[in-house]
Amino acid sequence: MNDEPVMATNDDASECKRGAVQLGYWQDSYIPYFVRQIEKRAPEINRGYYARVKGVERYIKSFLKKAGPASQIVNLGAGFDTLYWRLKDQGVYIANYVEIDFPTVTARKCYAIKRNKQLLERIHEQDGEVKLSATDLHAGNYHCMGADLRNISQVESKLQQAEVSFSTPTLFIAECVLVYIENDCVNRLLAWIASKFKSALFVNYEMCNMNDTFGDVMLGNLRARGCNLAGISFCKSLETQKGRFLDNNWQGAKAWDMVQIYYDLPASERQRIEKIEFLDEQELLIQLFQHYCICVGWLGTEFADVNCNGD
Ligand code: SAM
Repeated sequence: MNDEPVMATNDDASECKRGAVQLGYWQDSYIPYFVRQIEKRAPEINRGYYARVKGVERYIKSFLKKAGPASQIVNLGAGFDTLYWRLKDQGVYIANYVEIDFPTVTARKCYAIKRNKQLLERIHEQDGEVKLSATDLHAGNYHCMGADLRNISQVESKLQQAEVSFSTPTLFIAECVLVYIENDCVNRLLAWIASKFKSALFVNYEMCNMNDTFGDVMLGNLRARGCNLAGISFCKSLETQKGRFLDNNWQGAKAWDMVQIYYDLPASERQRIEKIEFLDEQELLIQLFQHYCICVGWLGTEFADVNCNGD
């Protein structure tokens, strides 16, 4: 299978994030180390990325508040995500932080980390060892590793290499990732996690409500970029999104579309970013928000009341 177009979605996401950061939507002093190029995107795309990053961040905060510093984060399909460094800057400590993506993507990430002192010095503990191969990097509590998420035994062996504990509260993040993976494989991955971990929260950001003309256009764009969408049934509704967790032995699940998430962000922040660029078509932004969602699934009862307001 040709996975190149799927891997290329990371370049696109990272370029969009860098562009939005440059305009002042949010702060991320690390993304420029991974992405050199900045392409100007439409204001609704920038606002969409703002809602995505801030929305996911709020569930991360909510998890960390409950689970505390003895917890773990496993970022699936992490691409060039800079969360590890941003948390470190905020003084947030966690026991173990793991990133998995295709080896081609992690090789580029490892190379960028190795080349940039500002990235390296934050993962490198004093006197600590940095273990580096072409595609994997282990340093202190940070692990970046190449694996195909469709291959459970590969994922399991990578988590073992990173000394992930199955009994420690664990946050799984999949930001715009599961949408590129065949349904059967997503089900297998979710069921496997549920069979192994006792206490976990899974935060999944992806497309939803694709069964209309707007959804057809979005899927057409993905196909035009070469993504093979065979075997991927686009979750049609928030109910289907939740069902995916419940059907794979997760204890509970909740889902919100991005309209809800965006209007739940602090009003002062929304007002601030809405002044950055003039938006011609509010309607288009709302349509975009209606086609993306955040779904959370949990194992164990401690995360059942997790909320988008960071509580
Ligand atoms: N999560 C990052 C973010 O939000 O910036 C990257 C998102 S990008 C749209 C999707 C990522 O998922 C890519 O880095 C891609 O390589 C990764 N991905 C998709 N399918 C994968 C698979 N089967 N195994 C490993 N990584 C995968």
